[in-house]
Amino acid sequence: MAAKTPEERRKARKESQRRRARQNRITLLVLLVLCILFLALVIAKNHTPKEPTESTVSKEESQVASSEITVDEEGNYLQKKGSSWNLILVNDWNAIDEAYVATIPLEDFNASWKFDSRALPYLNQMIDDANAAGCDIWGQSLYRDYETQKVLYWRQVDQLLEDGYEQEQAEKEAATIVKRPGTSEHNTGLAVDFECSEYQDLDEGFENTRAFQWLTTHCAEYGFILRFPKDKESITGVIYEPWHYRYVGVEAAREITSRELCLEEYLKEKGL
Ligand SMILES: [Zn+2]
Repeated sequence: MAAKTPEERRKARKESQRRRARQNRITLLVLLVLCILFLALVIAKNHTPKEPTESTVSKEESQVASSEITVDEEGNYLQKKGSSWNLILVNDWNAIDEAYVATIPLEDFNASWKFDSRALPYLNQMIDDANAAGCDIWGQSLYRDYETQKVLYWRQVDQLLEDGYEQEQAEKEAATIVKRPGTSEHNTGLAVDFECSEYQDLDEGFENTRAFQWLTTHCAEYGFILRFPKDKESITGVIYEPWHYRYVGVEAAREITSRELCLEEYLKEKGL
């Protein structure tokens, strides 16, 4: 075989360079296609099958939670122990004990009343702003200790007995007017009853005052809610009380008020 001329060697070198470049391009293209396929697979896997699985799981979990843990046989929401202090649920089915009451940090509101010191600045600001807006309101009843609640409850029972009720009936009925010890929000230091210069009775007449209108519009800005609304009596177990407000924190108060919920509904929905 004749030896290649320099010209032929050059051509052969060039040809092999071109071949290598073509092979490199093809390899790159194949890699790119594989990458795209892989990415598409990952995205498809994350999106389609996962969503229904997740929602099924959470639905099952919440069903378990509400049917086995957080609701009693009569459908009343039972709050788990250790909830956040501002969202503590206190009612006929969720009583606080004297040990819990002893942990509440109290501060003087005035010479007669105390309030939870963590919520007191919000209460003071709300009253100041209401007064500045021309609504002369004041807190008439705030924190009530366990012992006082006991006295008030049994006084109510005695009253009903005098009115002719049987003992069992009287105790049941009394609890709808004055809470049993540990079941009143006034035992938490987070509840306040308002009076105003226009109206000084704790009854439905309070809703006809300008103070009530101001509170309805503004209380959530200070973390307070109207605790016992008119149309929620079957859930709260308490008659409509336009004068009774409860501190829950600004975030919860805004949502509860804007969505017209009561505290029980909010806590149940959030699983708190
Ligand atoms: Zn009250």
